Amino acid sequence: MIAPPTLKIRRILEAEKLDAILIFGLPNMRYLSGFTGTDGVLLIGVDNSVFLTDSRYLLQAQAQVSTDQITCYKNKFKTIIAQLRNCGYKRVGFDAAAIDFAKYDELVTTGGSSFTWIPLATQLQTLRAIKSDVELLALNKAAALNNDAFDLIYPTIQPGMTERDVALELEFTLRRLGGEDKAFDFIVASGKRGALPHGVASEKKLVAGELITIDFGTRVDGYHSDETVTFALGEVDGKLRQIFDIVLEAHDTALAAIHPGGLICDLDTVARDIITAKGYGDYFGHGLGHGVGLEVHEYPPVSQRTDQRLEAGMVITIEPGIYVPELGGVRIEDTVVVTGNGHESITTIPKQFKQINT
Ligand code: ZN
Ligand code: ZN
Repeated sequence: MIAPPTLKIRRILEAEKLDAILIFGLPNMRYLSGFTGTDGVLLIGVDNSVFLTDSRYLLQAQAQVSTDQITCYKNKFKTIIAQLRNCGYKRVGFDAAAIDFAKYDELVTTGGSSFTWIPLATQLQTLRAIKSDVELLALNKAAALNNDAFDLIYPTIQPGMTERDVALELEFTLRRLGGEDKAFDFIVASGKRGALPHGVASEKKLVAGELITIDFGTRVDGYHSDETVTFALGEVDGKLRQIFDIVLEAHDTALAAIHPGGLICDLDTVARDIITAKGYGDYFGHGLGHGVGLEVHEYPPVSQRTDQRLEAGMVITIEPGIYVPELGGVRIEDTVVVTGNGHESITTIPKQFKQINT
């Protein structure tokens, strides 16, 4: 008996008339089996489940994974094929987004002509979209670490520190407070560098009169926090302040529009319309947000292209931004869960305008 998410896999097996599904991707593998190592394959068949891994992970798999059987391999693909043959499985689906062409080729070549391989992409895309209470707890814990670390770091920020100093302090503090690892390379973008949506922290020194954008997060039990704060170091000019207010309005309005059943693309439209009406439409080049979970960017993308509907339990970010070359930029990001009648914020740092006195 393996974990409840496997019910979703059972439905895919039936819908696609498959004998078995092979899971190669680590986030899906962790979600379905509990395995936290970095090498393995999960085979879920119509009447049994097998976890295959190499000898380094055998003890760990025995402790974490509750498949019917755990098998060790020396040659991964030969062992997978032997296992499928043993079980009499012939029509086999696999998580197409998680295997590269060379590995796919090896799988098919090793299997010979006796198998039909069915790539599963859209079928698996929504697998982890609705979060359980246990997952939400981990996401809330990760977000609480963001809040605690930011509270400790914010009062220490002053002119002369480099962006990299800020990023390192944040990273160290998050780890010391219990975070597993940084969720991604932190963005600390100050002054004109704020115009770079992905301005990874540089050696640039902070200067009074700048806006500073910090995008950061950590992990708890494999689940990510993702949050962006923009604030002023001393007095900033009126145009930057105006941009901040526009982004905050777009952020708040998009949050207020979240409800189950709503089209995901409509959230992007709500935020984009506000930014466009104020004349900054050309300076908001990315989608409004993304799903967050075992991966920091996962389904669903919150963009114009997503015509699926919001469902209670989905966890998404709302992160509008305006980036003006040679001036600077603002992004404000929260991670929220869709509830039965709206949303609840997972990230908790207040996003109103704030200014460090210099
Ligand atoms: Zn972010
Ligand atoms: Zn994000």
